[in-house]
Amino acid sequence: MSDFDAKKGVVLVNSVFGAPGTSIFESMSRLAAETGSINLGQGFPEGLEPPELIEAAIQALRDGPHQYPPMMGLPSLRRAVADNARRFLGLEVDWEREVLVTSGATEALTDTFLGLLNEGDEVIVFEPVYDAYGTLIRRAGGVPVPVRLAPPEWRLPRDELEAAITPRTRMIVVNNPMNPIGKIFDAAELAFVATLARRHDLVIVADEVYEHLVFDGNSFTSFLSLPEARDRVVRIGSAGKTFSVTGWKVGYVTAAPNLLGPISRAHQYVTFTTPPALQAAVAAGLNLPGSYFEGLRRDLAARRDVLVSGLRGAGFTISDVPSTYFAVADIGAFDVGNDDLGFSRRLTLEAGVTPVPVSSFYGARDVTSHVRFCFAKTFETLEEAVVRLARWREGQSWKAAS
Ligand code: PMP
Ligand code: GLN
Repeated sequence: MSDFDAKKGVVLVNSVFGAPGTSIFESMSRLAAETGSINLGQGFPEGLEPPELIEAAIQALRDGPHQYPPMMGLPSLRRAVADNARRFLGLEVDWEREVLVTSGATEALTDTFLGLLNEGDEVIVFEPVYDAYGTLIRRAGGVPVPVRLAPPEWRLPRDELEAAITPRTRMIVVNNPMNPIGKIFDAAELAFVATLARRHDLVIVADEVYEHLVFDGNSFTSFLSLPEARDRVVRIGSAGKTFSVTGWKVGYVTAAPNLLGPISRAHQYVTFTTPPALQAAVAAGLNLPGSYFEGLRRDLAARRDVLVSGLRGAGFTISDVPSTYFAVADIGAFDVGNDDLGFSRRLTLEAGVTPVPVSSFYGARDVTSHVRFCFAKTFETLEEAVVRLARWREGQSWKAAS
């Protein structure tokens, strides 16, 4: 899947970034575009951007300024990050000492690993794991140590987690709510991780980019709200998810000053700043009334219902989906021969609907029982996907029918 040839021209390849091929999100998106398939693979929303945010960005672009904003981020956005966390999660955050703006959650993760890790430090990650973690941890000198959650319950495996901790462990990364499986960690699971972190003096990196995408009255608790973990949590958020603008790449880190210091030092050499107009617009977004956030939840839940019932009708097995953009579907009912990537390609060609294989979220690529569909699309797109899946199930070609 590699799109460059290391044997041609000057050979100079970093051993970490040279190893992986093109990301699965990019390669499945490309295949969908080439074949005219509906792309439910890569996690980006369609038709959900709040107009107030777009207007605020236009206004900020007109008004300026257009030069480097402060390295830590615009004060208005840092204050808004703290206010939003107080309003929805009950967090008390000192915006001047505890909030940093980054170019997306990806940069926040990069800065966190670069700023806090040293050579050989072990970092526990939970599989299925968001693909960037392993590579970024390794490039920062760390060693990712996977601990697996098992379907269909995807519960925190407490014994395995405890057994994975060694004298070299420095960090546990928890993506909550969790991509790709839509899991929300419950209070007992959070408390267990927090207790272990305190006992072994570990930092908890809480990737909470899906914090606002929680449905059906489920509640989400930030790791930062646990008093026993308050001084050891690095909380990461993303405007891309909260405002359905994944291309904007505005993220934020909230952490105690002793952790935020080295993270912001990494940030000043990675990107230094983030486009000021987008920061101003995101500040306006975070200050929107509760009705925006409730509306987003309701809207996404309705879209989820359309896709999940269509997928179930087409023979996929899906548990409840309480959060995120994603439904993971068990493909055991189909003849996939331990090849969820092959099945994802087959579904693209035969049904005209593209998922991503969940094996890509495992370092060893050996769990091939599920594929992931993104439901943050327009109702029209989702309804068309459901029609195509039903035709595929009946053995009809989507090309002939559509
Ligand atoms: N973490 C997780 C779990 C994600 O799903 C994403 C979305 N791509 C990111 C981080 C990156 O977010 P951003 O686009 O803000 O860099
Ligand atoms: N986070 C998005 C997903 O899980 C994709 C991000 C990317 O394309 N790198 O689908």
